[in-house]
Amino acid sequence: MYRCPLCHQPLNRQDLSWRCANSHCFDFAKEGYVNLLPVQNKHSKNPGDNAQMMQARRAFLDAGYYQPLSDQINKLLSQHLTASAKLLDIGCGEGYYTARLSDALNAKQAQIWGLDISKTAIRYAAKRYSAINFSVASAYDLPFADQSFDAITRIYAPSLSTEIERVLKHQAWLLTVQPAAHHLFELKQAIYQTPRLHDDLAENLPGLVLRQQQNLSYAIELKQPQDTLNLLNMTPFAWKLTEAHKLQLTERLSKVSLDFTIRLYQKPTP
Ligand SMILES: [Zn+2]
Repeated sequence: MYRCPLCHQPLNRQDLSWRCANSHCFDFAKEGYVNLLPVQNKHSKNPGDNAQMMQARRAFLDAGYYQPLSDQINKLLSQHLTASAKLLDIGCGEGYYTARLSDALNAKQAQIWGLDISKTAIRYAAKRYSAINFSVASAYDLPFADQSFDAITRIYAPSLSTEIERVLKHQAWLLTVQPAAHHLFELKQAIYQTPRLHDDLAENLPGLVLRQQQNLSYAIELKQPQDTLNLLNMTPFAWKLTEAHKLQLTERLSKVSLDFTIRLYQKPTP
Protein backbone atom coordinates (compact mmCIF):
# COMPACT_ATOMS: atom_id res chain seq x y z
CA MET A 1 0.00 0.00 0.00
CA TYR A 2 2.70 2.50 0.98
CA ARG A 3 4.86 4.19 -1.60
CA CYS A 4 8.08 6.07 -1.07
CA PRO A 5 7.46 9.81 -0.53
CA LEU A 6 10.81 10.57 -2.23
CA CYS A 7 10.77 8.46 -5.41
CA HIS A 8 7.21 7.02 -5.42
CA GLN A 9 8.43 3.40 -5.68
CA PRO A 10 6.58 0.82 -3.55
CA LEU A 11 7.75 0.47 0.05
CA ASN A 12 8.40 -2.96 1.49
CA ARG A 13 8.49 -3.83 5.16
CA GLN A 14 11.85 -5.12 6.42
CA ASP A 15 11.86 -5.79 10.14
CA LEU A 16 11.43 -2.39 11.75
CA SER A 17 11.57 -0.26 8.64
CA TRP A 18 9.97 0.39 5.30
CA ARG A 19 12.31 0.49 2.31
CA CYS A 20 12.01 1.20 -1.44
CA ALA A 21 14.10 -0.17 -4.35
CA ASN A 22 16.22 3.00 -4.19
CA SER A 23 17.14 2.28 -0.56
CA HIS A 24 15.13 5.14 0.93
CA CYS A 25 14.33 3.92 4.39
CA PHE A 26 11.64 4.91 6.92
CA ASP A 27 11.61 3.67 10.48
CA PHE A 28 8.69 1.99 12.13
CA ALA A 29 8.35 3.70 15.54
CA LYS A 30 7.96 1.68 18.72
CA GLU A 31 4.45 3.10 19.14
CA GLY A 32 3.52 1.33 15.89
CA TYR A 33 3.43 4.03 13.22
CA VAL A 34 5.69 4.92 10.31
CA ASN A 35 7.08 8.40 9.70
CA LEU A 36 6.82 9.03 5.95
CA LEU A 37 7.50 12.75 6.09
CA PRO A 38 11.00 13.28 4.64
CA VAL A 39 12.98 15.87 6.59
CA GLN A 40 13.49 17.93 3.42
CA ASN A 41 9.70 18.18 2.93
CA LYS A 42 9.03 19.54 6.40
CA HIS A 43 8.36 23.25 6.51
CA SER A 44 8.71 23.53 10.25
CA LYS A 45 10.30 21.41 12.96
CA ASN A 46 7.02 20.06 14.29
CA PRO A 47 4.28 20.69 11.73
CA GLY A 48 0.64 20.28 12.69
CA ASP A 49 -1.09 20.36 16.04
CA ASN A 50 1.04 20.50 19.17
CA ALA A 51 0.81 18.45 22.37
CA GLN A 52 -1.38 20.94 24.23
CA MET A 53 -3.93 21.02 21.39
CA MET A 54 -3.80 17.26 21.15
CA GLN A 55 -4.48 16.71 24.85
CA ALA A 56 -7.38 19.17 24.76
CA ARG A 57 -8.76 17.47 21.68
CA ARG A 58 -8.51 13.99 23.12
CA ALA A 59 -10.17 14.98 26.41
CA PHE A 60 -12.98 16.78 24.63
CA LEU A 61 -13.63 13.95 22.18
CA ASP A 62 -13.45 11.35 24.97
CA ALA A 63 -16.23 13.27 26.75
CA GLY A 64 -18.48 12.28 23.82
CA TYR A 65 -19.50 15.72 22.55
CA TYR A 66 -18.73 14.80 18.93
CA GLN A 67 -20.06 11.26 19.08
CA PRO A 68 -23.25 12.01 17.08
CA LEU A 69 -21.00 13.20 14.23
CA SER A 70 -18.83 10.11 14.46
CA ASP A 71 -21.93 7.87 14.50
CA GLN A 72 -23.34 9.57 11.42
CA ILE A 73 -20.05 9.17 9.51
CA ASN A 74 -19.96 5.47 10.42
CA LYS A 75 -23.58 4.94 9.42
CA LEU A 76 -23.11 6.55 6.01
CA LEU A 77 -19.96 4.62 5.19
CA SER A 78 -21.34 1.30 6.46
CA GLN A 79 -24.15 1.63 3.93
CA HIS A 80 -21.73 1.92 1.04
CA LEU A 81 -18.86 -0.40 1.88
CA THR A 82 -18.59 -4.12 1.25
CA ALA A 83 -16.46 -6.65 3.14
CA SER A 84 -12.67 -6.19 3.39
CA ALA A 85 -12.83 -2.54 2.37
CA LYS A 86 -9.68 -0.46 2.66
CA LEU A 87 -10.12 2.99 4.20
CA LEU A 88 -7.92 6.01 4.73
CA ASP A 89 -8.60 8.80 7.24
CA ILE A 90 -6.79 11.97 6.12
CA GLY A 91 -5.87 14.36 8.92
CA CYS A 92 -6.85 11.74 11.47
CA GLY A 93 -5.40 13.62 14.45
CA GLU A 94 -5.31 11.55 17.63
CA GLY A 95 -7.50 8.90 16.02
CA TYR A 96 -10.93 9.34 17.62
CA TYR A 97 -13.02 9.13 14.43
CA THR A 98 -10.64 6.62 12.85
CA ALA A 99 -10.95 4.18 15.73
CA ARG A 100 -14.72 4.49 16.04
CA LEU A 101 -14.97 3.88 12.30
CA SER A 102 -12.72 0.86 12.64
CA ASP A 103 -15.01 -0.54 15.37
CA ALA A 104 -18.13 0.14 13.32
CA LEU A 105 -16.67 -1.71 10.32
CA ASN A 106 -15.13 -4.51 12.37
CA ALA A 107 -17.70 -7.07 11.25
CA LYS A 108 -16.83 -6.28 7.63
CA GLN A 109 -13.13 -6.84 8.34
CA ALA A 110 -12.21 -3.46 6.97
CA GLN A 111 -8.58 -2.35 7.02
CA ILE A 112 -7.95 1.21 8.14
CA TRP A 113 -5.09 3.64 7.58
CA GLY A 114 -4.78 6.99 9.35
CA LEU A 115 -2.54 9.84 8.27
CA ASP A 116 -1.61 13.17 9.81
CA ILE A 117 1.17 15.74 9.39
CA SER A 118 1.50 16.02 13.19
CA LYS A 119 3.85 13.49 14.72
CA THR A 120 2.46 14.31 18.16
CA ALA A 121 -1.04 13.42 17.01
CA ILE A 122 0.08 10.18 15.36
CA ARG A 123 2.02 9.11 18.46
CA TYR A 124 -1.14 9.58 20.55
CA ALA A 125 -3.17 7.68 17.96
CA ALA A 126 -0.81 4.75 17.51
CA LYS A 127 -0.30 4.27 21.25
CA ARG A 128 -4.02 3.88 21.85
CA TYR A 129 -5.29 2.18 18.69
CA SER A 130 -3.07 -0.68 17.61
CA ALA A 131 -5.40 -2.11 14.94
CA ILE A 132 -4.98 0.90 12.67
CA ASN A 133 -2.06 1.63 10.33
CA PHE A 134 -0.93 5.13 11.23
CA SER A 135 1.60 7.27 9.39
CA VAL A 136 3.02 10.76 9.67
CA ALA A 137 2.74 12.11 6.14
CA SER A 138 1.58 14.95 3.95
CA ALA A 139 -1.99 15.07 2.64
CA TYR A 140 -0.58 16.87 -0.40
CA ASP A 141 1.62 13.93 -1.42
CA LEU A 142 -0.13 10.82 -0.13
CA PRO A 143 2.33 7.96 0.47
CA PHE A 144 0.07 5.37 -1.15
CA ALA A 145 -0.07 3.60 -4.49
CA ASP A 146 -2.69 4.61 -7.08
CA GLN A 147 -6.17 3.14 -6.57
CA SER A 148 -5.52 1.77 -3.09
CA PHE A 149 -8.70 2.69 -1.21
CA ASP A 150 -12.44 1.95 -1.20
CA ALA A 151 -13.10 5.04 0.89
CA ILE A 152 -11.40 8.10 2.31
CA THR A 153 -12.65 10.24 5.16
CA ARG A 154 -11.53 13.83 5.50
CA ILE A 155 -12.88 15.55 8.57
CA TYR A 156 -11.97 19.25 8.38
CA ALA A 157 -8.47 18.50 7.12
CA PRO A 158 -6.96 20.31 4.15
CA SER A 159 -5.84 18.13 1.25
CA LEU A 160 -5.13 18.03 -2.45
CA SER A 161 -8.06 16.71 -4.47
CA THR A 162 -5.88 15.27 -7.26
CA GLU A 163 -4.08 13.14 -4.67
CA ILE A 164 -7.38 11.89 -3.21
CA GLU A 165 -8.63 11.02 -6.67
CA ARG A 166 -5.39 9.19 -7.47
CA VAL A 167 -5.45 6.85 -4.44
CA LEU A 168 -9.18 6.05 -4.66
CA LYS A 169 -10.33 3.01 -6.61
CA HIS A 170 -13.00 3.54 -9.25
CA GLN A 171 -16.44 3.75 -7.62
CA ALA A 172 -14.79 4.42 -4.27
CA TRP A 173 -16.03 7.08 -1.84
CA LEU A 174 -14.78 10.27 -0.28
CA LEU A 175 -16.62 11.47 2.82
CA THR A 176 -15.91 15.06 3.89
CA VAL A 177 -17.02 16.96 6.97
CA GLN A 178 -16.92 20.75 7.04
CA PRO A 179 -18.23 23.19 9.61
CA ALA A 180 -21.63 24.53 8.52
CA ALA A 181 -22.96 28.06 8.99
CA HIS A 182 -23.70 28.02 12.74
CA HIS A 183 -20.84 25.83 13.94
CA LEU A 184 -19.61 27.09 17.35
CA PHE A 185 -21.60 30.28 16.84
CA GLU A 186 -22.05 31.07 20.56
CA LEU A 187 -18.29 30.84 20.93
CA LYS A 188 -17.79 33.38 18.16
CA GLN A 189 -20.46 35.62 19.67
CA ALA A 190 -18.53 35.63 22.92
CA ILE A 191 -15.27 36.53 21.15
CA TYR A 192 -16.18 38.83 18.26
CA GLN A 193 -18.23 42.02 18.03
CA THR A 194 -19.74 40.92 14.74
CA PRO A 195 -19.39 37.16 14.47
CA ARG A 196 -19.62 35.77 10.97
CA LEU A 197 -21.29 32.59 9.84
CA HIS A 198 -19.13 29.87 8.27
CA ASP A 199 -19.07 29.70 4.49
CA ASP A 200 -20.48 26.37 3.56
CA LEU A 201 -19.99 25.95 -0.16
CA ALA A 202 -19.33 22.54 -1.66
CA GLU A 203 -15.80 22.32 -3.00
CA ASN A 204 -15.27 21.51 -6.61
CA LEU A 205 -13.28 18.29 -6.53
CA PRO A 206 -12.16 17.42 -10.06
CA GLY A 207 -12.57 13.73 -10.89
CA LEU A 208 -15.16 13.17 -8.14
CA VAL A 209 -18.95 13.43 -8.24
CA LEU A 210 -21.01 14.74 -5.30
CA ARG A 211 -23.59 12.03 -4.54
CA GLN A 212 -25.03 13.03 -1.21
CA GLN A 213 -25.03 15.97 1.16
CA GLN A 214 -26.54 16.28 4.60
CA ASN A 215 -26.53 18.61 7.54
CA LEU A 216 -26.04 17.54 11.13
CA SER A 217 -26.63 20.09 13.85
CA TYR A 218 -27.16 19.81 17.56
CA ALA A 219 -26.36 21.79 20.69
CA ILE A 220 -24.01 20.63 23.41
CA GLU A 221 -24.20 21.53 27.07
CA LEU A 222 -20.68 22.07 28.39
CA LYS A 223 -20.68 20.27 31.71
CA GLN A 224 -17.49 21.58 33.29
CA PRO A 225 -15.23 24.63 32.86
CA GLN A 226 -12.48 22.24 31.76
CA ASP A 227 -14.66 21.09 28.85
CA THR A 228 -14.97 24.70 27.66
CA LEU A 229 -11.22 25.18 27.97
CA ASN A 230 -10.59 22.01 25.98
CA LEU A 231 -12.96 23.15 23.27
CA LEU A 232 -11.17 26.51 23.05
CA ASN A 233 -7.75 24.85 22.99
CA MET A 234 -8.59 22.42 20.20
CA THR A 235 -9.82 25.12 17.82
CA PRO A 236 -7.96 27.96 16.06
CA PHE A 237 -9.37 30.23 18.79
CA ALA A 238 -6.57 28.87 20.96
CA TRP A 239 -4.09 31.15 19.14
CA LYS A 240 -6.26 34.25 19.41
CA LEU A 241 -7.11 34.27 23.12
CA THR A 242 -5.10 34.89 26.25
CA GLU A 243 -5.37 32.40 29.12
CA ALA A 244 -7.30 35.02 31.15
CA HIS A 245 -9.76 35.50 28.31
CA LYS A 246 -10.24 31.73 28.00
CA LEU A 247 -11.00 31.49 31.74
CA GLN A 248 -13.55 34.29 31.43
CA LEU A 249 -15.25 32.41 28.64
CA THR A 250 -15.59 29.25 30.71
CA GLU A 251 -17.96 31.23 32.96
CA ARG A 252 -20.02 32.65 30.13
CA LEU A 253 -20.38 29.71 27.78
CA SER A 254 -22.58 26.78 28.64
CA LYS A 255 -24.44 25.83 25.48
CA VAL A 256 -22.75 25.69 22.08
CA SER A 257 -24.14 24.81 18.64
CA LEU A 258 -22.38 22.22 16.54
CA ASP A 259 -23.25 22.37 12.87
CA PHE A 260 -21.70 20.20 10.17
CA THR A 261 -22.11 19.49 6.50
CA ILE A 262 -21.31 15.92 5.52
CA ARG A 263 -20.73 15.22 1.85
CA LEU A 264 -20.23 11.98 0.05
CA TYR A 265 -18.37 12.03 -3.27
CA GLN A 266 -17.71 9.13 -5.59
CA LYS A 267 -14.98 8.49 -8.14
CA PRO A 268 -16.78 7.37 -11.30
CA THR A 269 -15.77 4.43 -13.47
CA PRO A 270 -13.63 5.60 -16.41
ZN1 LIG B 1 12.38 5.83 -2.60
